[in-house]
Amino acid sequence: MTGALVVATHNPAKLAEISRILADLGVELLSAADVGLPDTDETGATFAENALLKARAASAASGRAARADDSGLVVDALDGEPGVRSARFAGVHGDDQANTRLVLERMWGVVDRSARFVCVAALATPDGRSWTAEGRLEGTLTERPRGRGGFGYDPILQPLGDTRTTAEMPPGHKDAISHRGRALRAIRPAVADALGLLRRPAGGAPDAAG
Ligand code: IMP
Repeated sequence: MTGALVVATHNPAKLAEISRILADLGVELLSAADVGLPDTDETGATFAENALLKARAASAASGRAARADDSGLVVDALDGEPGVRSARFAGVHGDDQANTRLVLERMWGVVDRSARFVCVAALATPDGRSWTAEGRLEGTLTERPRGRGGFGYDPILQPLGDTRTTAEMPPGHKDAISHRGRALRAIRPAVADALGLLRRPAGGAPDAAG
């Protein structure tokens, strides 16, 4: 084991996905519950600001490197909404059905249906360094919800080049193409850097430059 990383999430599915993507780094992952993290208010105006707020708060509270992310649906014809308000677009935090309904209402009769899921992953260390990486899943909004898988806006986003919504895909396929998976894979080198793993040659022993 070469280092420990705090993963600022209370969501076991996200923790499992992160641990799959970082598995080969040999990093010990500590969950929000493991280190007793309080919830952080998401007061930022962008996904990156919110992800950094959460990562920095988790790093300060735990004294360790910490990783967080923020994500949502961005609709061109709605000037980027729901954006950072994705989880509470219709008023009640986490009411996926109401949020989805409101997006479809606002999009009624709109021809330009281009939209994307966006995720920004952030990493912060106790010495004040930070990194961000973005992942996107481009698509178009359907006219009505389709599929029972996933969560959030999955039933109304059809990725480009596919005939299914993300709610109609097997979970493994969504993982492979998702904004979250892409952001996580993109932040992986920064995790290795922050935990000092890049200074180790393949054999695992620290090199002379240390
Ligand atoms: P969070 O960043 O996980 O808190 O996600 C914020 C909100 O964005 C969620 O409540 C969903 O409404 C939406 N969202 C984020 N990722 C996805 C996704 O993969 N599918 C559908 N909706 C998503």
